[in-house]
This record gives sequence, structure tokens and C-alpha cells, in this order.
Amino acid sequence: MKNIYLLGATGSIGRQTLEIVDKYPEEFKVITLSARKRINDLIDLIEKYNPKFCSVETKEDADNLADRFPDIIFGYGKSSLIHAATFQPKDSEGILINALVGIAGLHPTIEAIKIKRNILLANKETLVVGGDLVMSLAKQNSVSVYPIDSEHSAIWQCLQNGKKEEVSKIIITASGGAFRNKSFEELKNVTKEDALKHPNWSMGEKITIDSATMMNKGFEVIEAIHLFDLLPNQIETIIHPESIIHSMVEYIDHSIIAQLSSHDMRLPIQYAMFYPNRKDSMVSSIDFKKLSSLHFETLKEDNYPCFRLAMESIQKGQSMPCVLNAANEAAVDLFLNEKIAFLDIPKMIEVEMKNHVLIQSPTLEDLLRIDSEVKERIYLNH
Ligand code: NAD
Ligand code: MG
Repeated sequence: MKNIYLLGATGSIGRQTLEIVDKYPEEFKVITLSARKRINDLIDLIEKYNPKFCSVETKEDADNLADRFPDIIFGYGKSSLIHAATFQPKDSEGILINALVGIAGLHPTIEAIKIKRNILLANKETLVVGGDLVMSLAKQNSVSVYPIDSEHSAIWQCLQNGKKEEVSKIIITASGGAFRNKSFEELKNVTKEDALKHPNWSMGEKITIDSATMMNKGFEVIEAIHLFDLLPNQIETIIHPESIIHSMVEYIDHSIIAQLSSHDMRLPIQYAMFYPNRKDSMVSSIDFKKLSSLHFETLKEDNYPCFRLAMESIQKGQSMPCVLNAANEAAVDLFLNEKIAFLDIPKMIEVEMKNHVLIQSPTLEDLLRIDSEVKERIYLNH
């Protein structure tokens, strides 16, 4: 039985992770949970899984929960996320499943690596912001970082068919998000409701907006560079509206290995939870007789300035992807609160990136400081 330390338990990935725990109750024991706002959902989870420690956002919630569940320890704020990630520090067989959104996931991941806990990472912003730091620390501590993202799970599976030096390129597929068929002109007036209608996946709000702007795909390229130790020019991105091929690896003999499955995140989650084994899953099998065709299109970079900015940030490297992420988090939040228009998102990110003076080999403290400075500047003007 593996112990699970789960951050972001009430979110889309968190809930689907717990569905796998429910299917395989003999294999996993939930030790810690975190939730920010959905306290009633957390109460249901506490009653069901009886964890030892829970992290919430406010002291008030932590105190109320402690009165109700006297045998469980409750913490609040950022330090409690670290506590949830590193609880029972000697348990190096346990796994941290990080399903938080945004940079909030970075510090807990780093602390869990320091206690040699393997990481299952849905929180892609951790690698976007701190990829160099996280991956080198993981190497030093012999810790594995397994992806929970359909594309990276696909690449991971495809890479098992050859040697690293035999890989010629990685082909990441993109559904195209909510606005695949719109022109750049039409994007000027799209609303929050339009942007939240993802054609294939039901996900948290932030990643759904990131999919509409294609920042999500930019993040995924950066994530892949760090996870699989690739160069930016080894990665190609292609639109594949059906989301059946989750990504591909081309080898030097021009043989391409692809991973196909229904678009259901429970598959990449369970693959990471059981790796190196495979188990029966709740994901439906593909019926090729019903699947009439698969389509591929070029990603129109002109329509997706966020994708271009993400590529620019990885070329500059160092502290630039942190600026990209911070400005994006703040701008997406403003868009979700209907304070700015859809196309203001890339504009705000571009301004921050232009004004940023690069910091070489940024430390965790540098990254957290840059993150707050960028966000403060953006919120101050709105
Ligand atoms: P979500 O919004 O549904 O859930 C986020 C969870 O994190 C919630 O439990 C929330 O309480 C918590 N949280 C958010 N911000 C927090 C903060 N500042 N402090 C503490 N807790 C906080 O998001 P999601 O769709 O589950 O996505 C989680 C991560 O997984 C993201 O990084 C996303 O990009 C990635 N991801 C998601 C999917 C998907 O299908 N949903 C697919 C691939 C990758
Ligand atoms: Mg993805």
C-alpha cells in the first residue's frame, strides 16, 4: 500500500485522483489533503478518507475543522501546503500528488523533493517557473518527477520505445481550445463564458482559459523540455482537434510512436500512480469503427500571442518563464473577474516580459519575489 499526500484535493485533478483511490482501495492510503475554498467538499473527503493532516487557506477554517475533527491536524496558509507535502518526512515510499494551480505548487514540491519523496506533478506551473531548480534538485536527491498531463504521459510512454539519443523530435498535440475556428479579429470580443467552453476536456477554470489562449500549450512545451531534458527545437506542436493522439515521439529512423486513448485524465493520473505497472482503468476503450477520422492542422501562431510569448520566454530562460507565468496568472484572474478583455492577457504579459531584467540561475527566493512583484504591478493598475 502506497501513502498519498494530495495537494489540491477538491479540484478537477484532485477529485479524479481520488476516483482511482476508490477503485483501488487496497493500493493507496490518503494521508494528507489540501483544499482552499471548497470546505464542504473537503469535509466530505475527510469523512471518507480519514487523513492525518489537512491544509486549508484560512485560520478560521482550520479552527472550525479542528473542532469538528479532533483526531486530525489542520494547518492553514502557504506553510501548511508544505507541511501537507512533507508530512511523515521519513515515508520515502509515499507519493506527493501535486494538483494545485499556479506557482502555489512550487515551494511544496521543492520541500517534498528534499525529503526524497517522489512527485506526481499535475501542477505544470511548478516546472514552468522553476524547472531548472526542481529537476536538478530531483536529480541530486534521486527523486522521480512523473507527469500528470495527457501530453507528457503520452511522451513518457512513447519514450519507452527507444533510447534517448535515438529520439529526433517530440510532437505535442493541441486540441486548439475553445477558439480554434476563430480569427484573431473575432477574439477581441469573446467573453469569459465563451472561453470556458473547452471542446474536449472539463477542467479547472484557469487551465481552460490557458487552453483558449494556447498558453497551456506553451507551458506544456516548457514542461516537456524540463521533464525529458529536451531542447526547444526538438519539440513540434500540432493542432489535433479530436484529442485522441495525446502526443508522439519520432525516432531517428523516422518511425513515430504515438499514444492514443479517450480524452480522460484518469488515464494519465493512474499511469503515474501505478508506474511501472498498468492496471484496468475506468477510461473507455477507443472504438475505431466509430472514429471516422483524425485531423491535424498547423498551429496559427498569429492567433495565439500567448504561445509565442511562452516560446520567447524559454529562449531567454533564467527568470523569464517566471515572469511569463506570474503575469499570466494575474491576467487570467482579471479576465475571469471580467476586469479585462481576452486579448489584454497577452498584452499584459508582453509588457512585463519586456521590462524584466533577467536574473541568472534564480533561486527559489528570487522566483517567489519576482512572482509577487509582477502580480502586484498588474493588480495595482486594475
Ligand atoms: P482546479 O481549479 O480544478 O483545482 C485546483 C485545486 O488547487 C483546488 O483544490 C484548489 O483549492 C487548489 N488551489 C488553487 N490555488 C491554490 C492556492 N493558491 N493555494 C492553495 N490551494 C490552491 O484545477 P485543475 O484543473 O485540477 O488543475 C490543477 C493543475 O493540473 C493545474 O496546474 C493544471 O494546469 C494541471 N492540469 C489539469 C488538467 C485537467 O484536466 N484539469 C490536465 C492537465 C494538467
Ligand atoms: Mg495537457
